[in-house]
Amino acid sequence: MGRNVGLGSDNGAMPTYRDEAVVLRTHKLGEADRIITMLTRSHGKVRAVAKGVRRTSSKFGGRLEPFTHVDLQIATGRTLDVITQAVTLHPYAEPLGQDYERYTTGEVMIEAADRLVSEEGQPALRQYQLLLGALQALTAGTSDGPRPPAMVMDAYLLRAISLAGYAPSLSDCARCGAVGPHDAFSPVLGGVVCRRCRPPGSAVADAAVVAYLTALLGGDWVATREVTPVTLRRGNGLVASFVSWQLERGLRTLRYVERETGV
Ligand SMILES: [Zn+2]
Repeated sequence: MGRNVGLGSDNGAMPTYRDEAVVLRTHKLGEADRIITMLTRSHGKVRAVAKGVRRTSSKFGGRLEPFTHVDLQIATGRTLDVITQAVTLHPYAEPLGQDYERYTTGEVMIEAADRLVSEEGQPALRQYQLLLGALQALTAGTSDGPRPPAMVMDAYLLRAISLAGYAPSLSDCARCGAVGPHDAFSPVLGGVVCRRCRPPGSAVADAAVVAYLTALLGGDWVATREVTPVTLRRGNGLVASFVSWQLERGLRTLRYVERETGV
């Protein structure tokens, strides 16, 4: 997949490949290096070393920060791959860093991408495209204009978790399949539930919320134009509980997203 033999810079001749990626997270390695975890277009999730990246003189500059969309040249190492070149395609970290709400919702998205694509090196093209589209929508607006960060995040989470195989049921009962509409929602059972299946403590899901979540899941931004703040907040609560349950331990960063309660 685009792999060809090139000349590695410091380990003799190492095979190299080129790919595009969104940086998900980084952590320190040794004195001056970082391990960069990213979601790539062709190679799925990849972890690779960026040598000297923590030095102020680094040739990488700020190009390997979380959220950045980069074009990379990577050398295949014995244990870890090594990033040899990085060119910024979209510096998403910059607009996000200036807006707390956008930043925290963006963090939830990249953490979800990291969790949902668990296998390293397995192509995950649609997850990659979905994340890239969501970062674009968060920073520059959707195909139908700007939308609140929470809405962009919830659309991303619903679609990403569905791609991973955990789509919520929004019409028929998630437990017995009884034909909907139904007006209760159980994150544990996986979506809307009928009166017979509804466990105690299920959330109320009125028709407006169900229609809203259906639009988000289908990528139908036009249908979200007239959504009221109350519906947006209720949808936000249902998506958070659904995604947290489905991802078992929950998304750590979700708690930093400010959410009004009592609606
Ligand atoms: Zn049922």
